Order: sequence, then structure tokens, then C-alpha cells
Amino acid sequence: MNLVSRYSMNRWLLMTFAAAIISACHHAPVQAQSSGNSERCLEVSLTGTQGGPPQVGSLAGPGTLVRFGTKENNCSDIILQFDSGRNTVGRLSELGVSVKNLDAVFYTHMHSDHTEGLASLLLLRWHFFGGPLDIVCSADSAVPQQPVPRTMSCESFVAHIADAFIASGEIAQRYAESNKRHPDGPSHLANLKTVDLPLPDRPGHVVWEKGDVLVTAVASRHIPGHLSFRVDSPAGSVVIGGDAGNNVPTPPRDFSTSVAVERLSKDADILVHSVIHPVFRPGNGSAFPAVPYYRQSAAGDLGAMAKRAGVKQLMLTHLIPSLDTTHHGPFEIPGGPLSAVDFDTAVRSSGFDGEVHVGTDILTIRLLEFQK
Ligand SMILES: [Zn+2]
Repeated sequence: MNLVSRYSMNRWLLMTFAAAIISACHHAPVQAQSSGNSERCLEVSLTGTQGGPPQVGSLAGPGTLVRFGTKENNCSDIILQFDSGRNTVGRLSELGVSVKNLDAVFYTHMHSDHTEGLASLLLLRWHFFGGPLDIVCSADSAVPQQPVPRTMSCESFVAHIADAFIASGEIAQRYAESNKRHPDGPSHLANLKTVDLPLPDRPGHVVWEKGDVLVTAVASRHIPGHLSFRVDSPAGSVVIGGDAGNNVPTPPRDFSTSVAVERLSKDADILVHSVIHPVFRPGNGSAFPAVPYYRQSAAGDLGAMAKRAGVKQLMLTHLIPSLDTTHHGPFEIPGGPLSAVDFDTAVRSSGFDGEVHVGTDILTIRLLEFQK
């Protein structure tokens, strides 16, 4: 899908400035002072904050839920999920969201930690007779590197999402019990909307829209096909950076963050972004490999980017390493476990003076229209 230029930058900017931030909280939405239940709101929740493939405690894999609506309906006219790591359906349930009611799922990239929850999400939607679901992701991206050239393919991933369950006979058995289910299985609920790359360098490329909500995307570097998204609504704006890093894969470079994401984040109310703590930097005594370190955005650089872009609130997610643990997967953390304060301090070393939220699962921030 290619919708370039259907919307002017003016509308994009107007929606941005209409935003008002009024509340933030951990673990439950705050009911702010209200001018009425019909007041419109944008709510951003972290459905999982695990960084990368490890399993630390009970953290869910990375994902961000964005809801827009009125206070009356708990901001739920439009419900969007960005990435769907392990146990996304569990976190959605905790947040009171049925997978049947999702309007669209967006993927930043095809790494399994960001995508593996789609199987359970689509299976659940299929079991209980859900309808088509928009899935927005990049079109196939060739990876020319040797020794084996390959392709990152969201389309193929989605098409085969339930193959193991079809092979086991489960899908046919369930369908025999109720033909209200789609006869061809869960993947056929997906209404795939692929984004052709490369994208224009400037922000504003629309990839999805409904009512007053507009989703735009930029291409950003992490692995081929990586996208970062921005949601603009009358109640505020949020950027989902994903695992974006600088186009220059290793030092020397000015910073580890993405210039494209910085442009996308201009004056955003909230930036949700994966983060890596410099404790894992090469040469600091951990065995954490250099390649995955350098393709993430480091905490201090993220703060500096948020400051330059005029971002009001920074939500850190996909924390590497996870909090309060001695190991991140097989990698021992030099100096012992990190706390939220360690991440906050690293971000603020940049001089960023907006709000910093060190991500925990189901951390939620609500923005309300016309309030500051
Ligand atoms: Zn990741």
C-alpha cells in the first residue's frame, strides 16, 4: 500500500498541536479531571517490555497498545497494537482489551521477539469468530549479505502463522465444531497492508487511517524492513520507534539513534522506544555481542534525541538488560542488576528534562484533548 501525499503536513502538525498531556501512571489508567465523558482521549500502554528473545521473570515480549476514543468508552473507539511479543494476549486481557476488538496490528520488524505473539492472537480471534484484522508491515525486504542471501517477509510470516495447528489437524477439528470460524484458518483473518520500501525521507507517509486517527511511518535501521510509526489524533500523538538505531551501524558516528525517528518524533507527546543501557557496551566486561549492541539506541542518546525533537514524554521499553536481574539471557550484567533509576539516570545524562517512564508491562499513559 502506498498512500504518499494523501494528507498534508499541515493536518499532521495541527493534530500534533491539538494534543494535551494530562496524566501518567503505572499499572492502571488514571481518571483525570474531566470536562465530560465525551472528551476524547489517547491512551498508550506497554503490552510487553522484555528486551530481545530472553525470558526474564514474567515479562511479556515487546508491544504497545494505542487506543483512541472518549472517556465514556475508555478511549476505545479505535484500538491499535504495535508489535506483539510473547504473551501479548495476556497483557491485552489485563488491560481489558479483547483481541476481537483490535482494528489493526503493526509490525516494526520481523524479529521473533516482536512477532511471536501473533500466532496466539490470531488463533484466539479465529476461535471466537472474529473478523478480518488489518496487519501493517513492510513489504518483503531482501537481505543481500553472504553467506546466504535471504528475505525478511512479513507476508510469508502471516500466511504461515497457523501452519503447525493446521498440520496437527486442530484447525479442521475446530472448524468441524463450528462453521462460524473461517474455513481456511487464522491467517485468513489477516488483511495484510504492506508498506513498500524505500519510503520518502521526510515523515508524513500514511500507512493506516480511520476516523480522526492517522498512522504514518518512516523506514529506520535495525534489520531490513524495519519501520517506525507515529499515531496522530485530536487527543495527542505517539511515536513507536521500535528497535531503531542509526543508519551508520557502528562507531564512529554522532549517536546511536535514528535520524528518521528523530524527524518522526518532532514535538510528539510520547515517544515509545526500545533502549539499551551502556553497561553492555563492548569492552565493558560483558560478553554481550557488539552487533546487537550497536543496532539498538543507547539510553543517553535516546534522551538527547527526545530533547532535540521536543518530545514531552519518553517511554522506555524493550529494556536491555531487563531490570533487577543478574543476567540478560546468557549475558551476565557487569556490576550486577540495574534498576529503573539506572536507566532514568542514563537518559537524563543527556539533559532531557521531559518525563521519563522506565517501562514495565501494562504501564499506561492517557492524553486528553484540550487539556494541558
Ligand atoms: Zn527487539
